[in-house]
Amino acid sequence: MQGKLVLGNWKMNGRLAANLALLQAMLADADINRAGVGIAAPYPYLAQLGAAFAGSQLAVAAQDVSRYAADGAFTGEVSADMLADMGCRYVLIGHSERRQYFAEDDACLRQKLQAAVTAGLVPVYCVGETLQERESGRFAEVVGEQLQALDAISGKEYVVAYEPVWAIGTGRVASIEQIDEAHRLILERVLQCHGASASIRVLYGGSVKADNADAILSLASVGGALVGGASLEVKGFGKICQSA
Ligand code: 13P
Repeated sequence: MQGKLVLGNWKMNGRLAANLALLQAMLADADINRAGVGIAAPYPYLAQLGAAFAGSQLAVAAQDVSRYAADGAFTGEVSADMLADMGCRYVLIGHSERRQYFAEDDACLRQKLQAAVTAGLVPVYCVGETLQERESGRFAEVVGEQLQALDAISGKEYVVAYEPVWAIGTGRVASIEQIDEAHRLILERVLQCHGASASIRVLYGGSVKADNADAILSLASVGGALVGGASLEVKGFGKICQSA
C-alpha cells in the first residue's frame, strides 16, 4: 500500500529571505522532512527549493506548466521539460484558480497533462465543483466531466486533487461524508479508465488545517492532502504531515 502524499501549495506567496527561513524550519521538522511530502512554489523560487531539498526526500512541485511541450517562441511560458530540468517531480494542473482567473478549459488542460507526462513529471490534476454546482446537485456530473481530461493520458502514477471550490481559502471544509463520497467516486472513475496496475491517489484540498487533518487523512479513500494557507507555516503543516 502506497503512503499518503502531502503537497503544500504556496500559491503566489513567498520572497527569497522568507522562503529560506521557512524551508530551513521544514527541513528541521521530522514530520515534514520525509518521503511523501512536497512543496509547489512559484516558478522563480523552484531553484531555491531544489537547492534546499537536495539530499532530502522532499519533492519540488510547480503550480502550472505551459500547454506547449516544446521549446520555442512562446514568450512568458515555462515548459514541462524546463520544470523537469529544475528537479520538479510534480506539477499542479487545472487548479480552480487557474480555471477561474485564467480561463483554462478542458482542451488546454488536456494539453498540459500530456506535456507534463511526456516530460516525466507527475501531474496533480485538480478537480472540484463550485458551491452553486453542489447546491444544484450537479457535483458528480461536473467532476466527472473534469476527469475526462485524464482519460487519454497514459502514465504509471495518477494524482487527482479534489478541491471543492467553496472550501478553498474559506475556512469552510467539506464534511467527512462529502469528502469520502467524492473521493470514492473519483477513485472508481480513474480505476475504470486506467486499471489497477497504476498508482492512483486522490488528495483532498480545501481548508486542510492542523485540527481537521487527522479526520480527513484517516479516510481510506483519501490518498493525501493539497494544502494551501497552512503550508506557509511550519507548525500547522508539520501536524498535517504527521496525520498522513
Ligand atoms: P487552502 O488550504 O488555503 O484552503 O487552499 C487549498 C488549495 O487551493 C490548495 O491547492
